[in-house]
Amino acid sequence: MNTKTQTSSHAHSAPIAVIGGGVLGALTALTASHQGIEVLWFAPPEAGRSDGADARNYALSPLTVDLLKRLGVWPSLEQSSCLVSRMEVYSGAARIDLSASDAGTEFLSVMLLHRDLLNGCEQAVKFRPQIQRISHRPDQLTITPEGVTLTAEERTYSAQLIVGADGARSWVRAQAGILWGQRDYAQQGVVATFRTEYPHGGIAVQWFDEGDILALLPLADPNLMSMVWSTSRPEPTSEMVINEFAARIGERTSGRFGALTLEGEASSAPLRMMLTDRQSSLRTALVGDAAHTVHPLAGYGLNLGVQDLLSLEDIWKSHRTDPGAAAALTAYEKARHRRVRRVQWSLDVLQRLVSQNHPTFLKIREFGMRVVANTGPLRQFLIKQAISPQ
Ligand SMILES: Cc1cc2nc3c(=O)[nH]c(=O)nc-3n(C[C@H](O)[C@H](O)[C@H](O)COP(=O)(O)OP(=O)(O)OC[C@H]3O[C@@H](n4cnc5c(N)ncnc54)[C@H](O)[C@@H]3O)c2cc1C
Repeated sequence: MNTKTQTSSHAHSAPIAVIGGGVLGALTALTASHQGIEVLWFAPPEAGRSDGADARNYALSPLTVDLLKRLGVWPSLEQSSCLVSRMEVYSGAARIDLSASDAGTEFLSVMLLHRDLLNGCEQAVKFRPQIQRISHRPDQLTITPEGVTLTAEERTYSAQLIVGADGARSWVRAQAGILWGQRDYAQQGVVATFRTEYPHGGIAVQWFDEGDILALLPLADPNLMSMVWSTSRPEPTSEMVINEFAARIGERTSGRFGALTLEGEASSAPLRMMLTDRQSSLRTALVGDAAHTVHPLAGYGLNLGVQDLLSLEDIWKSHRTDPGAAAALTAYEKARHRRVRRVQWSLDVLQRLVSQNHPTFLKIREFGMRVVANTGPLRQFLIKQAISPQ
């Protein structure tokens, strides 16, 4: 049955309702529309997010870039993106170089600013007549075996499936009664942009130092780099700490980028791994941070959400008449639950390993890094895991 015909009798009805005006919400609406499925997208404009996402730069994996190309978002983003061709990882005196050419790919990841990515998605939505954007948060949700009913601004909407893409504090998750828990890393993720004296050359740098994890990532401007610093230092965003830290970065990178000057303000967010009991329930699916969060040490968060979406896309192909059917949601749960958990726990173990500060541990870590640095196949394996994780 054609989904459009099936729902046209109800002015505020569509097979899928997506909640969340972030990147994952926009991509979910776009993905459904490319399947020919009509969508109600509840997306109040993001204005001045208080969690620092505006200053965040995503390291997008090749899988994510492929999706953006398929959805027609990529052409508007290409200009403002930066291809990362090499990554240098340091711990003490040890160093590993990971390069795209080692794995026979063009790039390791693509750097893009949150605001540019979201704008690109929002522009693409305007060309999709299947998407009806509602600029309000829903205030009520009723879920029955037949479908969901939502109200917003005194209007009633109905759908066969509700997709919660409403972030780590998901309202949809709470309404659907999906249980969750979290591990607090007792660290802040500090995000800042630095202007460098010398061009960065598309090279990303990461190091593990005194329990902190620092990533310095190249941006489209050849003299701008984005920093993600995971630290337990108190008041890490104060001007004094950031300036002192910029000087330390200069020393650690042997001045290769020259002097670093803070552009704009630094922001921070507490780092947590959030796990959900399930990623779906009756007529409900969760994607992105609504379903899981991870430590940002591998730049994985958004990419993990895109993998949720790729699973849904696959499932919708064989459930066009009712994307919220129990069989579709069971397939989604099967496709994602274990994989997401595996990624979450792998990153958690990695975080524990690289945050250890005991001298014996440091020696073991440096030894491990030297082994990786001198073993081509191991390096290739690491790159493959980083760019197209299974
Ligand atoms: C410091 C830090 C650095 C990071 N770096 C990277 C990186 O390099 N690469 C990467 O892949 N990931 C990174 N991440 C993770 C990444 O930011 C998240 O995984 C990603 O933003 C999740 O997107 P989302 O759309 O699921 O959630 P969000 O970005 O949180 O979006 C949720 C949206 O839903 C809206 N919303 C909330 N409630 C409602 C409601 N009731 N109705 C309607 N709308 C609602 C919100 O306003 C928001 O617009 C990082 C995270 C941190 C903390």
